[in-house]
Amino acid sequence: MIQSVNPIPAFDIKQQYTTIETEVSAAVLEVLASGRYIGGSVVAGFEQQFAAYHGVAECVACNSGTDALFLALRALEIGAGDEVITTPFTFVATAEVISAVGAKPVFVDIEAATFNLDLQQIAAAITPKTRAIIPVHLFGQSVDMTALMAIAQSHNLAVIEDCAQSTGASWGGAKVGSIGHIGCFSFYPTKNLGGCGDGGAITTNDPAIATKLRILKEHGQRNRYQYEEIGINSRLDAIQAVILQIKLRYLDTWNQQRQAIAAYYNQFLSQVAGIIAPQELAGSVSVWNQYTIRVLSEGRNGASAKHRESVQSQLQARGVNSMVYYPYPLHLQPVYQYLGYQPGQLPVAEQACNEVLSLPMFPELTTEQQDQVIYALKDILV
Ligand SMILES: *Cc1c(COP(=O)(O)O)cnc(C)c1O
Repeated sequence: MIQSVNPIPAFDIKQQYTTIETEVSAAVLEVLASGRYIGGSVVAGFEQQFAAYHGVAECVACNSGTDALFLALRALEIGAGDEVITTPFTFVATAEVISAVGAKPVFVDIEAATFNLDLQQIAAAITPKTRAIIPVHLFGQSVDMTALMAIAQSHNLAVIEDCAQSTGASWGGAKVGSIGHIGCFSFYPTKNLGGCGDGGAITTNDPAIATKLRILKEHGQRNRYQYEEIGINSRLDAIQAVILQIKLRYLDTWNQQRQAIAAYYNQFLSQVAGIIAPQELAGSVSVWNQYTIRVLSEGRNGASAKHRESVQSQLQARGVNSMVYYPYPLHLQPVYQYLGYQPGQLPVAEQACNEVLSLPMFPELTTEQQDQVIYALKDILV
């Protein structure tokens, strides 16, 4: 057994910081000295740069990706009595916000190859109450937005893209977050564009939606101390905005590094028995927030997560850290029991939860480290 001297982390935020430390600390100190910590030109500047990067008319910064999704639903006036279609194989925030505005999440199963919403199954889930679809571009890979927008248009539904894991990814040459009606982004530290704390942003080409978002994120006020909506307080701090301005300049380089790392993994893992390497759809350019394989157990249908867990702990013993995103599907969570879903009802998502394993993936991962991951995995699977 190969014992690595330095364990390989699943992600490494500290290392990336050292590459931009001088630039970031100078900019942060400048904001501190300015006394302008909320709003101001730094936040406005970031909003403009983020909108320009995506080729959209408007960007509204906010406090988190969760808030971005919540505010998007509120801006579309989605609430009690409405249904919103989304995936059960995502971070909880995607569905949580649907419930938080008083609407009902309707879960549609995923596609095995991409882990993203199965578009073939959406039409059957649409009812007269359906108002919107929230596709999640999971692990950095876009949903087929051409097909999704066609479905949405034919049923007059809004599309809110959950781009939390896919900043910089594209579909058919267009950046995710610029294709649907609203795009929602997270700057949580482990995302492709991550701040040093919480942060989020919303993109749209609709100026009326942008205006409404700005009102909702500032306590529902259009003019100071005049409240026309029940809003929230959701602002991006100036300190985060200045850090994100700097990091946005490196985003494409970092994403290209992730793509090279994924290509290297693919080269050595795509033919290995016992696993399935991730696949990229034609038309999509993934930014590989995660490199997620499937660990196959015998008699896959209804198989438990035991085999995957054993592979994960054997990797750990060889100095390779990995993560499970996500071990449980949202439709079977205790909080959604009231919706009445049964085990087996969304089988592709349920199986993914038992099989997925995300290998180390961050722009600074070295070829030597990747070799170690590949060697360890092959050694375990033989
Ligand atoms: C991270 C994430 C969110 C939430 O973003 P926060 O900034 O942590 O609130 C929403 N959806 C998905 C798919 C995510 O990965």
